[in-house]
Amino acid sequence: MKRSTGKDRSITSRWRPATQAVRAGTWRSEQGETSEALFLTSGYSFDDAETVAARFRGDDPGMTYSRLQNPTVAMLEERIAVMDGAQACRVQATGMAAMTAALLCQLSAGDHVVAARAAFGSCRWLVDHLLPRFGIETTTIDARDNAAWEAAIRPNTKVFFFETPANPTMDIVDLAFVCGLAKSRGITTVVDNAFCTAALQRPLEYGADVVAYSATKLMDGQGRVLAGAVVGSEEFITGVLLPFQRNTGPNLSPFNAWVVLKGLETLDLRVKRQSENALAVGRFLEGRVPRINHPGLASHPQHNLAMQQMDACGSIFSFEVEDRDQAFALLNALTLIDISNNIGDSRSLLCHNASTTHYSVSAEARAEMGVTEGMLRINVGLEDPQDVIEDLDRALHAAGL
Ligand SMILES: *Cc1c(COP(=O)(O)O)cnc(C)c1O
Repeated sequence: MKRSTGKDRSITSRWRPATQAVRAGTWRSEQGETSEALFLTSGYSFDDAETVAARFRGDDPGMTYSRLQNPTVAMLEERIAVMDGAQACRVQATGMAAMTAALLCQLSAGDHVVAARAAFGSCRWLVDHLLPRFGIETTTIDARDNAAWEAAIRPNTKVFFFETPANPTMDIVDLAFVCGLAKSRGITTVVDNAFCTAALQRPLEYGADVVAYSATKLMDGQGRVLAGAVVGSEEFITGVLLPFQRNTGPNLSPFNAWVVLKGLETLDLRVKRQSENALAVGRFLEGRVPRINHPGLASHPQHNLAMQQMDACGSIFSFEVEDRDQAFALLNALTLIDISNNIGDSRSLLCHNASTTHYSVSAEARAEMGVTEGMLRINVGLEDPQDVIEDLDRALHAAGL
């Protein structure tokens, strides 16, 4: 009986988030293993021809081929769905595979998308370059401005696409307003929740339709594997996303799914501690640098909204020094924090976005979304925050600040 409680929604949906992150989705083989089993198999074999025919017909729920189903991958999908309060989830090879699948599976030539202008570089590339090539119109707006969402709607608007907080400007989108507006106009919201995960923010509770993730970031949390996820209603995931995913194949490998399952076991702990550490580092930097974009500090213009939607400020924020030269001088003087464009890791990482994550975005788009030449984005890890502060202090002095 205990073997299968992880798959029983009537039980797992009542657990608190930290419990769900450890146990939801766990399924045990007849060996009764405590840790999730790793099924490194591409295919399955069958006792008879009738069974495999029934599985392909959909009359038997068993596995047929790992592009379609895999037990380790299914455990991760169930865990993420339960944590987000979603009916269903499918995982993909990377965060960008998740974003691409979440958009392309539902869009056709002639549709219109409204997207936040402040976004991760590759997300902006999808909106600015990929979608228009297939006859999908796109409009980018200042997503902090509720009126801008309303004004951008056209009769053919099909999707709203945004992240909150945005990477790396830390713009906050009003989830209740924007998701409510979309619902009233029959528009599907796709929310990139990579900066928070369900441990900090659950967009479905605010009326979002689809939540997409880079699981590479906080879910793995230790900088090991690339992974992505899309959650939503059974109708959307099974009816709309799944035919696209099964036939185009952006699947997550069972090994990487297993690593993310292990990462999720410590998600609640890590996210809480890293948020505390990021707040301590933010308080140190405030007043020491010309500008700081930190949702946990009262100086953030949308601090109140951020703290309504998020359970804590998260591990990531950005700040600005004078220019690129000063930003590079600061990076080059670090002795503890790594120069790295990754985020969500248990290590503290610092990066200059204009020359890395947002290099593929045009200079005009960077200027418009506020990714300045002096902007640096930090992921505060699990080190003692005092060591991170002392490293920044030394590097700021070296850069002339
Ligand atoms: C990193 C990131 C992505 C892309 O995820 P990958 O796993 O690197 O493909 C998408 N959106 C946001 C907000 C990100 O930070």
